[in-house]
Amino acid sequence: MSTYYPRFYSNAYWSMPEHIMVATKAFGKPLPPHAVVHHINEDITDNRPENLLICTQAYHLALHARMRQRAWIERMVGGKAKDL
Ligand SMILES: [Zn+2]
Repeated sequence: MSTYYPRFYSNAYWSMPEHIMVATKAFGKPLPPHAVVHHINEDITDNRPENLLICTQAYHLALHARMRQRAWIERMVGGKAKDL
């Protein structure tokens, strides 16, 4: 078999991870190239639309850097850091 499948078909819903599929449906059109879907509560099994954030790779990295920083401060103060 050497059937040629255009790129669209390789990105069809059935081949997408669930969080990408949910985000794509919520967005109403295919996600921009290089878009990243972040789980807001960090639970990667929680694919409710309200737990998903569509962002750029750069913003996603910054978000995770900030989350690591917050976790570090919380360990240092032994509690929840509220105003970061
Ligand atoms: Zn993330």
